Amino acid sequence: MTSSRPARNGILILGGGFAGAYVARLLGRRGATIVSPENFMLYTPMLAEAASGTLEPRHVVVPLRMMCPYAELLLGRAVGLDEASRTVAVATDAGSFDVAYEQLVLALGSVPRTLPIPGLAEHGLGFKNLADAIHLRNHVLRELEAADAALVASRAERHLTFVFVGAGYAGVEALAELSDLVRDALRYYPRLRGARQRWVLVDAAPTILPEIPTRLSEYAARQLTGRGIDIRVGTTLESVEEDSLVLSDGSRLETHTLVWTAGVRAHPLLAELGLPLDERGRVRVDNILRVEGCGNIWALGDCARVLNAATPDHPDPPTSQHALRQARRLAKNLQAAPRPYHYRMRGMVATLGRHKGVGDVLGLRLRGFLGWFATRTYHLYQLPLTSRKLRVVTDWTVSLFFRRDIAELSMLGHARGLSREGHEEASTISVTFGTREGEGVD
Ligand SMILES: Cc1cc2nc3c(=O)[nH]c(=O)nc-3n(C[C@H](O)[C@H](O)[C@H](O)COP(=O)(O)OP(=O)(O)OC[C@H]3O[C@@H](n4cnc5c(N)ncnc54)[C@H](O)[C@@H]3O)c2cc1C
Repeated sequence: MTSSRPARNGILILGGGFAGAYVARLLGRRGATIVSPENFMLYTPMLAEAASGTLEPRHVVVPLRMMCPYAELLLGRAVGLDEASRTVAVATDAGSFDVAYEQLVLALGSVPRTLPIPGLAEHGLGFKNLADAIHLRNHVLRELEAADAALVASRAERHLTFVFVGAGYAGVEALAELSDLVRDALRYYPRLRGARQRWVLVDAAPTILPEIPTRLSEYAARQLTGRGIDIRVGTTLESVEEDSLVLSDGSRLETHTLVWTAGVRAHPLLAELGLPLDERGRVRVDNILRVEGCGNIWALGDCARVLNAATPDHPDPPTSQHALRQARRLAKNLQAAPRPYHYRMRGMVATLGRHKGVGDVLGLRLRGFLGWFATRTYHLYQLPLTSRKLRVVTDWTVSLFFRRDIAELSMLGHARGLSREGHEEASTISVTFGTREGEGVD
């Protein structure tokens, strides 16, 4: 049987990402109840650095209970809405129940948008959350090990070919950071000295980084091309197999690595809630961020089509910068007479790997080291909690003086226990290493 409980102060927030966590934080002592499947907010702009090893993965997330000390956290998922009884069905590890609200905030974010491309679902790697970042890092480091173990050069090259589809923030930053990781790591692979590595960035659009001004995105493209990255705009992915893929320009690339970051779509739960949606499945809200036709349901962030009084021609793009500004307005609208949302962007920043970046800050176009420095400064300023900022600064400082950590930890997720089989396997591995070392001496 299902029982119900009230949301703290009547405010129920679905989603603890940028939008939801900031609304709860900005409500301060008034409090709210957050429903989230994770007990942390992921600071996505730093995800690429977590993948490349510049930042410790734990340091790019902020625990919700610390970030929003006056909010109640329900670790679980919203699974349904009953507007008539003003309740949301929530599934948690402790069972399912209804949570009653007076004001409901939808901040469910987005999910990766995939296309029905043959082989994509089986062989593509995502880059949207912390698990994706750790998995991608481990995958890239395993590819280096496989290249090192390969007996023929053509096989090694296949392991050293990395293809990213989607040239927005996520794809460009991930590619730039991971190519730096591989370049640094190769110092420790003497057998691979001189081996050809290949990084390919593919996008259907005519330019990379459509979120930033054209002059800066052109600069970013020149930077990446200068580092040997093969940029293919106006190109799409046609099909993928385990060890190769085909692009719309007719080329076939031999690779084991396809990273898919080509866009997001609204959270699928929204389609089941009976609320007004736009053609992309996002909830339609009015100019005060209230869901159209609903007196007490609000929405923001990637899951909503948000109209901005400062940019009447187009709704807000799905960025953390906009989610944060929307959260500021919504937290105020929940506490006093609602006012329209209005945000004029003063800048944007993106990193292109170590010591390189682009930024447009207060009308100043920043490139190279200055762009990189501005990007880091901006994200450090935005990251909540002084303790988190200090951890990130410490990681960055260490990375200035020491080389990256290249340990590959994926096996840690599969502890074998003390079985006899496990010991036998371990001794086989040491014999194999011994043989390879012996060969090297000869
Ligand atoms: C790799 C990457 C890099 C990016 N880099 C940048 C950048 O440099 N600059 C920039 O401005 N933007 C960047 N973005 C975009 C930015 O992250 C998003 O626009 C922002 O996170 C949107 O905030 P949100 O709260 O709407 O969604 P999210 O932050 O995705 O939060 C949604 C939350 O809802 C939770 N949720 C999901 N299902 C349920 C459920 N059933 N019940 C309850 N909760 C649920 C999720 O777990 C999540 O915590 C990047 C995105 C990615 C993926």
